Amino acid sequence: MSDRKKAVIVGAGIGGLAAGLALSRAGWDVEVLEQAAVISEVGAGLQISPNGVRALQALGVMDVLQPSLFEPESISLSMGISGRRVFDLPMKGYAQGRWGAPFFQVHRADLQDALKTQLGKEAGLVIRTNAKATGYVRERGGASVYLERGERVFGDVVIGADGLHSVIREQITGPDRARFTGNVAWRAVVPLADLGTAAPPPSGCVWAGDRKHAVTTRIRGGSLVNFVGVVEQADWQEESWSRTGDRADALRDFAGWVPHITAVIEAAPALNRWALFDRPALATWSDGPVTLLGDAAHPMLPSMAQGAVQALEDAVILAGCLVAETDLLAALQRYYAVRIDRVSRIQRRSADNLALFHKSGWANKIAAYAPIWAAGKLSPALIHARQDWIYGYDPTAAL
Ligand SMILES: Cc1cc2nc3c(=O)[nH]c(=O)nc-3n(C[C@H](O)[C@H](O)[C@H](O)COP(=O)(O)OP(=O)(O)OC[C@H]3O[C@@H](n4cnc5c(N)ncnc54)[C@H](O)[C@@H]3O)c2cc1C
Repeated sequence: MSDRKKAVIVGAGIGGLAAGLALSRAGWDVEVLEQAAVISEVGAGLQISPNGVRALQALGVMDVLQPSLFEPESISLSMGISGRRVFDLPMKGYAQGRWGAPFFQVHRADLQDALKTQLGKEAGLVIRTNAKATGYVRERGGASVYLERGERVFGDVVIGADGLHSVIREQITGPDRARFTGNVAWRAVVPLADLGTAAPPPSGCVWAGDRKHAVTTRIRGGSLVNFVGVVEQADWQEESWSRTGDRADALRDFAGWVPHITAVIEAAPALNRWALFDRPALATWSDGPVTLLGDAAHPMLPSMAQGAVQALEDAVILAGCLVAETDLLAALQRYYAVRIDRVSRIQRRSADNLALFHKSGWANKIAAYAPIWAAGKLSPALIHARQDWIYGYDPTAAL
């Protein structure tokens, strides 16, 4: 009988796949349970800051991923209507020197495919689709996950990577509801070739406006433009990528904005809508050998582009704790202790960033943006330094 330890991971999103890869490379047997019939990601982009790139390097996926990546020239903040630039910080060729890794933009599906490709090379790893978890029971020193079909799947450790509405989290911390933040996101992906001169700059661009903001990036090697438009709205709370919206509504939301935004909306083959939720920091992520990872543990607003990146950090650090400690329960306590302050701080900063991007009224805007504009002109290093604790973090050196 094998003396290899086994992890059961609930959820094959970016967090679950990354955790499966990290543990498999560390010599564990892994079974990933995914409720969907097919493992697929939504057609949308992700920004992966240097701390996330370090995690991907540790997972060994960079070679496979490289052709799909886009390295933005800079990260900028501009006003959505006038186009006036608040700051524009160099990234390409700069991030590596300051934070130890580049900053990339990528299609979610390309990242997921790269993780799956690497997972396919690992022995002792099984991914099961049509495997919806309904809860778990602690037994035999580990825990078993119940599947909807009635089966039980045992692991020495169970990891709930089942996203915002995690059933594993609900059993660990008790029933509650994720908190609707009063914001709804528009999302679209448009071929660069369809945008002509209206294409947004090849950067990570945040466009700020009254109670709304937009973000434009480039993905799939730069051949696609990714658009996110976040609008404050109190009256719609459904969270579903399959929910499409009307182009006329999106154009109304961004009426009078720079052509970079309106042209993307005009050209979008489809516009998806997703209400944005978060959750306050949890007092624990574990129940004995059962723990949480990614959005199941710490959902956050997308306004720092850190949700998936933090899931990647979780994966590398959780595997590191499980390898370093022979006592599995102590390993999971250590994982929480190493992660909780950092992810809670990033959750708060994400909410603060959203408030900053949504300032309305001239007085509020000048009070918020003038100091940042001045800092960007006088000493861009000051703005770069604000990112040091996030981007300069190395998850492989965190233990
Ligand atoms: C508009 C927007 C823009 C964003 N931009 C960025 C960005 O630029 N950079 C960044 O780092 N992050 C970004 N994020 C955040 C990022 O998308 C999430 O943090 C990340 O996808 C979370 O990954 P996850 O694996 O934890 O959860 P999920 O992606 O939600 O995956 C959970 C998986 O679990 C499965 N599952 C759920 N319940 C069960 C069950 N009971 N049984 C079995 N399987 C189950 C689901 O089907 C799914 O496959 C953005 C988010 C939004 C909304």
